[in-house]
Amino acid sequence: MTTVGDQIQALAPDLREQLAELCHSQWSGWMRHLFCRAVVVDGYATILVEDVQRWQRQMMSSYDQLTEAEKDSDRAEADRILEILKAVLPAPPTPPPICFHCERPMQQRDGEWSCYPCLSRQEVADLQAQIAQAKTEHDREIKALWPNLRRENAHLAIELENAGAKRADLEAQIETLRAALQSIACQEAALVAKAALNPQPASASGILGQSLPPSPSR
Ligand SMILES: [Zn+2]
Repeated sequence: MTTVGDQIQALAPDLREQLAELCHSQWSGWMRHLFCRAVVVDGYATILVEDVQRWQRQMMSSYDQLTEAEKDSDRAEADRILEILKAVLPAPPTPPPICFHCERPMQQRDGEWSCYPCLSRQEVADLQAQIAQAKTEHDREIKALWPNLRRENAHLAIELENAGAKRADLEAQIETLRAALQSIACQEAALVAKAALNPQPASASGILGQSLPPSPSR
């Protein structure tokens, strides 16, 4: 089982050395300060009583008993440790941005942040707007075409009426022709009967062959 210490060590193999270097720098800094305050007399380094008393008081105090100014010098040292740790530890993941429509976290796809529920709702709204626009345009076109359609309709009605009248006329002509045909058939029958009673082959065949129209097929 790996501990947090193992994980940190794996992330930064030289972290221990960096912290040890910092510890040395803190110790040597303190020693420099101490010797600067010391006075050499007769071959002895002597420390002022007031310094000794202050350091003893600080030495015997817990951190929360220090003054804020004293705490600040320890805080400055703590910041030096934090700087080293910040450099080696991975940055915590940044929280996703919040959608300003629904105020829920957005989702990331291909490096882009989007709110997919809101995006879907927007797509539906866009499609509804397109449908409404298409309907409006359709209505406008129909309204524009309507007078033409009515004109064409009236024109077609007149043509239909004319065609009906023409048809009635043609039917009447057909009836007349049919009656004429029947009359000629009757005349032909009468002539044939007459020829049968008074045979005159040359004259009868002359009439039948040249003057009469062909008899309708029965
Ligand atoms: Zn949203």
